[in-house]
Amino acid sequence: RRGDGKTRSEGSIPRNGGRTMLEIKNLMVFYENAIAINNINMKCEQGKVTGVFGANSAGKSTLMYTISGIILDVKKKEEMKGGERITVLGTILFDGTDITHMKPSERAKKGIVLCPERRRIFPESSTLENLKIGGYLATKAQAKKTLEYVFTIFPALTKLKKREGGFLSGGEQQMLAIGRALMAQPKLLLLDEPLLGLSPLMEAMLARSIRDINQQTGITIMISEQYARPILPIIHHGYILENGGAVLEGSSQELMENPDVKSAYFGL
Ligand code: ATP
Repeated sequence: RRGDGKTRSEGSIPRNGGRTMLEIKNLMVFYENAIAINNINMKCEQGKVTGVFGANSAGKSTLMYTISGIILDVKKKEEMKGGERITVLGTILFDGTDITHMKPSERAKKGIVLCPERRRIFPESSTLENLKIGGYLATKAQAKKTLEYVFTIFPALTKLKKREGGFLSGGEQQMLAIGRALMAQPKLLLLDEPLLGLSPLMEAMLARSIRDINQQTGITIMISEQYARPILPIIHHGYILENGGAVLEGSSQELMENPDVKSAYFGL
């Protein structure tokens, strides 16, 4: 039942975390003959924020696609076009269940929700419509409650309810993208480069909101970023990706104090 095969007395289970929700074992992803993910082993603890940091092309988006299952859709499309072959090897366990080859829609129903890079909101739909579209998996009551929560965590969206997504600023679009993902009732929220292209002020504001969402709702979060600085303080555990491999891992503190991380990701 606990998914990690360990038995502990109910009283000793920490309220917020302490259990592995996602476990990635020996994951490899190839685009044709090029390797994008090279033998990654990784864990996300329930109720915690896990960071994945890496430069352009390190494999962050491929990892997010593989966890959410979108990679299987990309693979199918490519095969239909007679294009490149995508190969996924290894195992992804979610709450102890092997989801490696499960359809993305089934993973979404299990609570794995991806908020993709570059936001991908619907530009001609209003803020409110975008949020409602996100709630297609939710019950009416859940949708109502989550909608209220989204406007609490992102008050700036309240006066933009009727504005078309395409007319929102980058930061507002990112709030909307995260709000829309919340509407899908995630247990594991995957945020792929949510701070991309935003001002330092907006980066700091969003990082705080992401931390608040984790603390207030207990949703487990995996977040990828190229630049670690604004995100490192809000993660519990993080991994550094280089050329598709996880080369380093540690707590927020350990990564912040690591000289290699400092020089590569803080420019110090
Ligand atoms: P970015 O910050 O640029 O989004 P990333 O860390 O998310 O980078 P990925 O997009 O996962 O990295 O790319 C990892 C590697 O896989 C790169 O070498 C990239 O060129 C390659 N790649 C990604 N998508 C495809 C694809 N559809 N076909 C072929 N190669 C791909």
